[in-house]
Amino acid sequence: MPSVRAVLFDFGGVFMESPFAAVRAFGARLGLDPGRALELIFGPYDRDTDHPWHRLERGEVSLLEARRAIMELGAPEHRVDLFEALGSLRDTTVREDVIALAREVRAGGVRTAIVTNNVREFGDGWRAMLPVGELFDAVVDSAHVGVRKPDPRIFRIALERLGGLAPKDAVFLDDFPGNVVAAERLGMRGILVGEDHRPALRWLRALLK
Ligand SMILES: [Mg+2]
Repeated sequence: MPSVRAVLFDFGGVFMESPFAAVRAFGARLGLDPGRALELIFGPYDRDTDHPWHRLERGEVSLLEARRAIMELGAPEHRVDLFEALGSLRDTTVREDVIALAREVRAGGVRTAIVTNNVREFGDGWRAMLPVGELFDAVVDSAHVGVRKPDPRIFRIALERLGGLAPKDAVFLDDFPGNVVAAERLGMRGILVGEDHRPALRWLRALLK
């Protein structure tokens, strides 16, 4: 097996609780069908579409515009509020063991990047949760590059920023299966991070040996 030269980390669901879990819990509180809240808020997440959340992650609309458009999608009976759906994430804490592993990976001479589907308005918030400059050689934020996972171009941007590495040199961790599949299709090694994130960390350690 070729050696690993870079590790690319997703942010939400890897360094902190999964936004998908937060929205599922929100849907359950409203008594929505399983999956309905996810579909309303995040759209068909394994594809890149013009759903308002996808446009938000590509930096094409503001958070307030996306919130309004998502309310309209579910109207009248499922008028869901994005702010309420993501509200629990405000109190979430960062996973110190993931930070420690990222630090260790980089100290071992392996390049590191964050590849996050994110929201421009959340930029200061998530960056304040972890020592970004210390942990990563590159930060690729969908809202800034205008491309979101699972579009393979976002992985190519990350590999380019890490010094022009080949996909086979890199491992990618994400909590969303469609993103892991997209990375693997490009030739990267993918690790799916489950609700218990610790098995994924063990898997990464094993690949780095
Ligand atoms: Mg994620």
